[in-house]
Amino acid sequence: MRKVIGAVEELGSKISDVDIEVLALGLQVKQGIIITDDLEMQNLAKQLNIPYHAATNHKISVQLHWIAVCPGCNRRYTDVEDFDRMTCDHCGSRLKKRAHKLGRKHSAQKSEVTSGH
Ligand SMILES: [Zn+2]
Repeated sequence: MRKVIGAVEELGSKISDVDIEVLALGLQVKQGIIITDDLEMQNLAKQLNIPYHAATNHKISVQLHWIAVCPGCNRRYTDVEDFDRMTCDHCGSRLKKRAHKLGRKHSAQKSEVTSGH
């Protein structure tokens, strides 16, 4: 996350927290690919050596948000900073990271992370 914010500041980018999250995730996910139609995001992805595709041909209509889900009791946790260290408050199971669709956004620019081949 800090690496992403560093790059964002270096390029003087003004991207949303969600976009920063997407980039941070792109760094974490093995063979992750950022899909974005935001040129600023593409620049940042390049800066951080994350593979990316222009979203123009992907027809993304929903924005993804990352939440943590407990495999034991199906509780959901939003706004989780560090998924790897999270355990369920209720049953102690290790939480799993899940993409949560927020639904259609009016914003023209959307980004997401997909796993590679
Ligand atoms: Zn649980």
